[in-house]
Parts: sequence; C-alpha cells; structure tokens
Amino acid sequence: MRKFYKSGAIYLILLALIGGVVFAAFSPKGSVTKPVDFGSIVKMIQQGEVKEISVHGDRVTATLKDGNKVFALKEPEIDIVKLLKEFGIKPDQMPPITVTEPTLWEKIAPWVDILLPILLFAGLFYFILRQAQGPTNQAFSFGKSRARMIAGDRPSVTFDDVAGEDEAKEELQEVVEFLREPQKFLALGARIPKGVLMVGPPGTGKTLMAKAVAGEAGVPFFSISGSEFVEMFVGVGASRVRDLFDQAKKHAPSIIFIDEIDAVGRHRGAGLGGSHDEREQTLNQILVEMDGFETDTSVIVIAATNRPDILDPALLRPGRFDRRVVLDRPDIKGREAILKVHVRGKPLAPDVDLSVLAKSTPGFVGADLENLVNEAAILAARRGKKQIGMEEFTEAIERVIAGPERKSRLISEKEKKIIAYHEAGHALVMRATPYSDPVHKITIVSRGMALGYTMPLPEEDRVLESRERLKDELAGLLGGRAAEEIVFGEAEITTGAANDLERVTKIAREMVTRYGMSEKLGPLTFGRKEEMVFLGKELAEHRNYSEEVARAIDLEVRKLVSESYRRAKYILTKYRDRLDLVAKKLMEKETITREEFESLVGDIELVSSDAIP
Ligand code: ADP
Ligand code: MG
Ligand code: ZN
Repeated sequence: MRKFYKSGAIYLILLALIGGVVFAAFSPKGSVTKPVDFGSIVKMIQQGEVKEISVHGDRVTATLKDGNKVFALKEPEIDIVKLLKEFGIKPDQMPPITVTEPTLWEKIAPWVDILLPILLFAGLFYFILRQAQGPTNQAFSFGKSRARMIAGDRPSVTFDDVAGEDEAKEELQEVVEFLREPQKFLALGARIPKGVLMVGPPGTGKTLMAKAVAGEAGVPFFSISGSEFVEMFVGVGASRVRDLFDQAKKHAPSIIFIDEIDAVGRHRGAGLGGSHDEREQTLNQILVEMDGFETDTSVIVIAATNRPDILDPALLRPGRFDRRVVLDRPDIKGREAILKVHVRGKPLAPDVDLSVLAKSTPGFVGADLENLVNEAAILAARRGKKQIGMEEFTEAIERVIAGPERKSRLISEKEKKIIAYHEAGHALVMRATPYSDPVHKITIVSRGMALGYTMPLPEEDRVLESRERLKDELAGLLGGRAAEEIVFGEAEITTGAANDLERVTKIAREMVTRYGMSEKLGPLTFGRKEEMVFLGKELAEHRNYSEEVARAIDLEVRKLVSESYRRAKYILTKYRDRLDLVAKKLMEKETITREEFESLVGDIELVSSDAIP
C-alpha cells in the first residue's frame, strides 16, 4: 500500500500549487501601480512635464521630469507617434520616444494566470480518474513502459559472457535454435518448450543467462519481476501479465523473463484469508496465458527462482515450466572462468594469478566475483596504479566477504572438510548399494540450496517402488551423516544433515503406513491423507488407528531408519580408504564427475540390506 502514500503526497503538492496560483490570480497586485488613461499622459506632454516616453507592447510609460513614472495602455498594433498626433500633440511637443518589442513570454504572460489553473485542474482530474479506474489504466501504461525492452530491443549479452555453466548452456541451446528459426521446428511439428525454469542461488547468473539466450537468438527480451506484483492493487498483476504476454506475442519470436517467480508462484492457498488474492490472480493469469499459447506461438517464458521447493506444482506441469535448468554455485574451475570474463579489458599486473584467486574464494557466486574484480580495480585506481595487482585482489576478497550478506556464504577449511566427507559419504553408500541410482556428480559448492545440491539423480517417477530400492535410498540419504560420525565423531555432527533426515523420516514412514512394507504391521495402509489445499499441503492427516498401532508404527519406522544407518556406517567403515580418497578429491576440486568418482572408487562389492551383521 505504499503507492497510496505516494499518491497522497501528489495530491497535496497539486493542491498547494493550485492554491498558490489561484491566490496569485485573484489577489490585488499591490505594488504594481494602476494605469492612467491615455488622455492624462497627453495632457502631461502638453504641459511639458514629460521627459521621455517608452513603449513596450501595449504599455506606454511616461517618465516625468520630476523622475516619477506613469503608464497607460494602448492597442499594441497602433503606432505611438500616430496616436499622439491624433490626440493633438504637435511635432515640437513630441518627447523622445523609444519602442521595444515584447518578448514571446510577455505576449503569453497574461494568459498564464488563466491557463495554469485550468491545466492543473485538468491534470488533477486525469489523475483522480486514473486512480479510480486503477487496475486497467495502470496496466494500460505498463505494456509500454514497465515491461521494458532492453536497449535496442535486443540484449547484446551472449553465452560468451556467461562463464562456465556448460550444462545449462547446452540445455538452452535448443531454445536458442528454436527462437532463431521457429519455422524450421514448427514445420516438422516439433513440440517446443514453452517454459523454462531457471533455478539457482542468488547471483549465479540466472538473469544474465536469460538475457544471453535472447542475445544469442537475437530476439526481444521482456522482463518483469515477481516481487513487483506483490504490492499492487488487486487485479493489476493479472492485467500486467496479460499486457506483457500481448507485447511479447506481438514481437515474437521473443522471450519473457519472469524473475523471482516464487513471489507469485508459491503454493496457492498456502495461507488463509484474502491476502494472497493478488498473487493468486497473477499466478493464474500466467498459467492461463501459457496454456493459451497456440502451437505456433514462438514466445518462450523463462522464469527464475532460488526457491523451487515452494513453487506451486501447477507451474511445473507439462506445457508450463516443464524444463528446469539449474545454475549451481561455481566450483574452482567455474570461478576462474568467471574471473576471466570480468577481467576482460582490464589491465592486470603480471603477478595476478586467477587460479589462486579462484582457490581462495570458496562459496563465491558470479555476482560476488564481479564485485571482487570491481573492488580490486577501485583499490588500484585509488592507489594511482596503472594495473590491478594481486595485492588489490587479495584485499578485495576480504571486502567482499565482509559485505553484510556474504558472510554466511563463506566456508571455512574445517567446514569444507566436513561437507566433503558428508557428500562423499552419500556418494559411496549409494555406489555400494545395489538399487541406488548412479552418482552423476558430487559437489560441495552448492550446499544450502534447496534442490539438487549434491548429486542430481535421475528424477523420473517410478511407478512401482520396491522395498529394497527404498531401503537403499534410506541408506544413501543417511550416508552423509554416517560419514560425519565415522570421521569426526559424535560430538562433531553438524546440522547439515537436517534435510536428509527429514527425507529419511518421510520415506520410512510412508514405507510403513502407505506401502504396507513392514513385516510387523503387514500390508495395510494407515491414515487417510487429504490434500487440504487451503491449509497448506498435507497438513491434515486423519488418523484411523489406535494409540497402540501408532506406537507400533513409530517403532517400525525407527527400526527401518536405524537399520539403514547401520548399513551406511558398515559400508563406509568397510571402504574407509575410498571415503578418504573421494573426500580429499572433493576438497581439492570441489566438484567431481561420475567418471572421476568411479575411478577413485574402482571395483567394489555391493552391500545388500540383508548382508548387515
Ligand atoms: P541472479 O539473477 O542469478 O541473481 P545475475 O544474473 O543477476 O544473478 O548475476 C549478477 C551478476 O553476476 C551478473 O551481471 C554477472 O556480471 C555476474 N555473473 C553471475 N554469474 C556469472 C557467470 N556465470 N559468468 C559471468 N558473470 C556472472
Ligand atoms: Mg536476477
Ligand atoms: Zn546430505
């Protein structure tokens, strides 16, 4: 509602202005003397009292011999000499006369007093009308001004300006090709992605990447941020979305970029009451627009978020944001590449070693690194240097770290080691259990992000889950915690495993209560789950069993979890040497690929769930 205050201030200013003008227009002009009639000037001339006459437009001023001045008005077109003659002034009586032309401003000045209030009132009226009509009208102007087209319609950023992130670029290449030549794809009846969800922590280059897609394809880029919708009048968000899409379709092929989509795209109904109306309407409108795309609409919607976990599932359905591109925090190599991009065209001293800088900036994202280079340049300039030296860079690192919101991103050596063992633990247990998905990639840099951090596994839905597979999953999830305990001891166990444990509990519970996988309780389901949309997801679970059964369930869940934990520890103890190898490599490189992992682990014997002593 901040807008209301703003408009209130405008009202006040307008009123004050109008008041002032009206007052000025109607107040007597105190100091200005009144004109005399022309006859009296003529009389003064005849009596020889006038020293000189000056004419300015319609104003005839007579300067008297005693120094006083009087003035009279005449028709501006009439010649003064002729006029005086007509009034009977003889040539020898004629005082010296000077005539000056009035300026343009002086010509319109008399009108200003009248016109200004009218203009102001008209303005005020327009303003009030706009406010009253609110939504539609604001949206009307939005299409033109708010959905800004980036300079010259097309961003000049290309993939070359985005360092690293090769996987993301590869995935987006298809979008680029489609936008370049939509006809080619459409002729073949290819179904083109409509929506791409760009996921990654702040500063990892989501906006940059979206612009680069537009730049690569040479298409216009329309962008809006989800957070802009939040403080709007009801109904405005939806019509803005409509306008944005209209504009984009008019300029197709084109890209619509919705930044911070989580601001409007949270689970709908995740709160009671009407306060989320606006958000919901906006979200609905986005969905309606996307569903309404014709098959030949060559507009691609890219949305960015760092909270994919809270998005409304409706957004992720096929035909909407069904593509997901993850931008991870950069690892050492990635950081070096980003630094390279940002030092382009800057004079560096010979002692600058970007790989060393990359090593000493764990946890930094692209935005931090850009900031780092900039700070270093500023330091060098202040010191009157012609080149940026390593000294400046090192100091700049400290500055960036000290920046208020960056502190939490810094990872100490000790933490790095714990994280490395934790992730190595997951990976190794997964590798050593028969039904686990293969490990694709292990990284210790993207911790703290809600999704896909350590080992993006194939996320395909399995129709049938086998008990053994679920048990393997439990062990894999517990592998992180188990590794921490084995290497650092009980006392050192960190909070890093909280998310793992949550998932473990959920899976184990479902195994017992939904899939009937517990021997003791048998093949029964317990509890009836209702998705109460308006209370938030899965908040309401109806219990249809007794206290006693509840206790039995708890026991079974616990048993499953503790068995899995023991299995994870067993595997990690058995292959402790590999655990150390993988963790060490992780500390060194921060990210390791599947191939590297496999070659570190080598051939190992799988450990099935019944092999635990
Ligand atoms: P996000 O939208 O994910 O918060 P931005 O795209 O706004 O991040 O990135 C902020 C800035 O950080 C960019 O303008 C760019 O200068 C820099 N940056 C981020 N990632 C990269 C990258 N991979 N390569 C080069 N620069 C990057
Ligand atoms: Mg951004
Ligand atoms: Zn973990």
